[in-house]
Amino acid sequence: MLYNDTIAAIATGMTSSGIGIIRISGSDAFAVAEKIFRPHKKDKRLSEQETYTIHYGTIMDGKETLDEVIVLLMKGPHSYTAEDTVEIDCHGGVFVMKKILELVLRNGARVAEPGEFTKRAFLNGRIDLSQAEAVMDVIESKNAYALKSSVSQLSGSVMRKIKEIREKVLYEIAFIESALDDPEHISLDGYPEELGKKVDNLSDEVRKLLINAEDGRVLREGIKTVIIGKPNAGKSSLLNVLAGDERAIVTDIAGTTRDTLEEQIQIRGLSLCMVDTAGIRQTEDVVEKIGVDRARKAADQADLILYVVDSSTNLDENDDEIISFLKDQNVVVLLNKTDLSMVTTPEMVKERLHKPVVCISARMETGIDELADLLESMFLSGKVSFNEEVYLTNARQKRAMEEAGESLKKVQESISLGMPEDFYSIDLMDAYESLGSIIGESVGEDLVNEIFSKFCMGK
Ligand code: GDP
Repeated sequence: MLYNDTIAAIATGMTSSGIGIIRISGSDAFAVAEKIFRPHKKDKRLSEQETYTIHYGTIMDGKETLDEVIVLLMKGPHSYTAEDTVEIDCHGGVFVMKKILELVLRNGARVAEPGEFTKRAFLNGRIDLSQAEAVMDVIESKNAYALKSSVSQLSGSVMRKIKEIREKVLYEIAFIESALDDPEHISLDGYPEELGKKVDNLSDEVRKLLINAEDGRVLREGIKTVIIGKPNAGKSSLLNVLAGDERAIVTDIAGTTRDTLEEQIQIRGLSLCMVDTAGIRQTEDVVEKIGVDRARKAADQADLILYVVDSSTNLDENDDEIISFLKDQNVVVLLNKTDLSMVTTPEMVKERLHKPVVCISARMETGIDELADLLESMFLSGKVSFNEEVYLTNARQKRAMEEAGESLKKVQESISLGMPEDFYSIDLMDAYESLGSIIGESVGEDLVNEIFSKFCMGK
């Protein structure tokens, strides 16, 4: 652990909501919490409790009761920051959250800087570089849709959705905990079936967020696109048409050769990230440069393949070879040079490859609208509305959401195996923590500045 001091902050938004979370992290986290928390069970000492347990009681400022709360204990390194962490789940009024935070600060913690929890998670090796970079993604929007999506996240749509799911999970944990604490008054008869149904619904919500995450990735990073086809089919002409007069942003990735040039091309707000354009732009040595092997390799990693076919000539064995590795991919066949007399027709292509075909002429610049329509329907499938949909905008959030889904699945398994109730609460707790790590990360720009100014990660 790199730090000795203990930090605290209000982890949820500063607006009134159902619950608010005050998070304390550091070597004194448990001690600080113990000073202000009066457990429901009088003889309980927080510092002696197991990790990943939750405790019901009140927050006391001397003799004054501030709120009725649930306290969650996570011992390092198994916490978001990898340090001892306490979360106080209190009522979500701004006033009460502030009062509790002040009390925490008076009892030995200092207020966390923006993003400091995540910074600690990173410095303690809890999140890796790619995850840290994923935070950047939220900030760095490459196109209008991505920008909207990040803005929507900053305004809290992801937060709200996750909080909602999280509150439901917490309710069940609290119920189980209370029932186990006080079996005389709270019965768990029939509860497993009821919980099973609820967990089903929660799993559905998690699944939906994950499906949207994939859309989110495409919008944010751009659709990784590869243009392939035989020499002379018109690939480079097509690229020029798509890039238009304003040459799209050309990124020369440092430390690599011209081979990995990437260009960003905007079509109706969709961002196509053209991969491997150096090979296409290099006109000499064309046959070697755009060999089938190279195309195959590029195609493997693509979200979208634009397969350019010269309609003024016959399909030949080179096309057969290309077609053979396109079967399972997202492919659009562009039947080019339709300004000339057509030897290969859309039907002939479709016989060999069951993929959409668009007739274009790179020379006359026709058919590009049809291509744009098709791409819109392929990647946005009409379902995506950027104002309402909730996106997970980075890989870490997505992973955390997947973990939440897996924990919920384990709850279902425990139910069907007839395990005792405290098993459910362990996995519910894991789900709760995974969901929380998504919310905890949404601190934004300060964090990114901080991490990246200190560690200079080359972005
Ligand atoms: P690449 O080798 O696949 O990149 O093909 P190019 O883009 O270099 O094009 C090969 C040749 O076909 C060039 O002479 C282009 O001018 C020509 N060409 C490309 N697209 C069209 C088109 O739509 N119509 C006609 N008539 N010629 C085209």
